[in-house]
Amino acid sequence: AISEGEILGYFYSKGIKPDGVQKLSKDMVKMICSEYEVEVIDAAAVRVEEMAKKKEILDEDDLDKLEDRPPVLTIMGHVDHGKTTLLDYIRKTKVAAGEAGGITQGIGAYKVLVPIDGKQQTCVFLDTPGHEAFGAMRARGARVTDIAVIVVAADDGIRPQTTEAIAHAKAAGVPIIVAINKIDKDGANPERVLQELSSVGLMPEEWGGDTPMVKISALKGENVDDLLETIMLVAELQELKANPQRNAKGTLIEAGLDKSKGPVATFIVQNGTLKRGDVIVCGEAFGKVRALFDDKGKRVDEAGPSIPVQVIGLNNVPSAGDEFEVVGSLDVARERAESRAEEVRNERITEKAGDGKVTLSSFA
Ligand code: GDP
Ligand code: MG
Repeated sequence: AISEGEILGYFYSKGIKPDGVQKLSKDMVKMICSEYEVEVIDAAAVRVEEMAKKKEILDEDDLDKLEDRPPVLTIMGHVDHGKTTLLDYIRKTKVAAGEAGGITQGIGAYKVLVPIDGKQQTCVFLDTPGHEAFGAMRARGARVTDIAVIVVAADDGIRPQTTEAIAHAKAAGVPIIVAINKIDKDGANPERVLQELSSVGLMPEEWGGDTPMVKISALKGENVDDLLETIMLVAELQELKANPQRNAKGTLIEAGLDKSKGPVATFIVQNGTLKRGDVIVCGEAFGKVRALFDDKGKRVDEAGPSIPVQVIGLNNVPSAGDEFEVVGSLDVARERAESRAEEVRNERITEKAGDGKVTLSSFA
């Protein structure tokens, strides 16, 4: 350790009088570090590198305004292994009190409250088929999902779509949690499933590996609380952050044409806060946000990081996986949308000249 006096002495010897030791300029820190052969690490640069690894939509400007954001999850797994049953159970039991009855139609994603240490913490589930969500993500290089929950039926074990789901999550660098489901059933053999998973490279935590696996019955709701707690623990380790104070950016997860509302689009806001009145561009579509609806169909004025929100006001229906961004004016938005449309036209021409059709699922 180096004493304060020693540091002060060093600066005096260089003819510098620090105004109290509490404030050293960047240059002074560099000087003292090189004197004592200590490596200087630029914290901001390190953080930017970490963000790039996690494929977060953050800029350097966001760094000093970062706040925690909820995790966004995708449930994947083989058909009939219980994905829908699990989602339904969570949706029925874990939405905010008094709001449960209010769910009329889904918007493709919803918020769930998980009590952790007596505090309600939010997590967000995507209700789109996992392979689509991941296909779109891979195609764009963006990462919408923070954690993949892979459901495996204890009476059936690993099947082709299980393997596929694991591959998607691994390719995207997303942490995996396994829900071993249907433990209530005759013929359920959760230990065999653990064995199968370890043989495809997912080593259970209880065997000293690093993949959390929770044995549940989605039908009966057994251990689903454990699963949610595990999810929140894994999320906490990821230190998910965003800057709510900036213009919103994010990804489209679902879109369609409503008879009375016109084009409707569900976005996950990934950074910033989306507000009513904002002008957005999303792929080839653009417009002013006329109204925002939350996952319970309730009108809201804004939506912050990780929050799914349905938007009305676009001139067109964008495509799944398109990213959206708030821009300064309708003119800018129109210009961007038009140049994107042109890009797409050119891509199509190139594809026709090539050897085959390229669709989103080609990336899945
Ligand atoms: P998905 O195709 O993965 O969405 O599977 P579903 O959620 O539709 O479930 C397929 C079937 O398995 C349905 O008949 C469910 O009732 C049943 N199922 C799902 N979870 C459980 C469970 O934990 N226990 C039992 N016994 N049946 C389950
Ligand atoms: Mg289903």
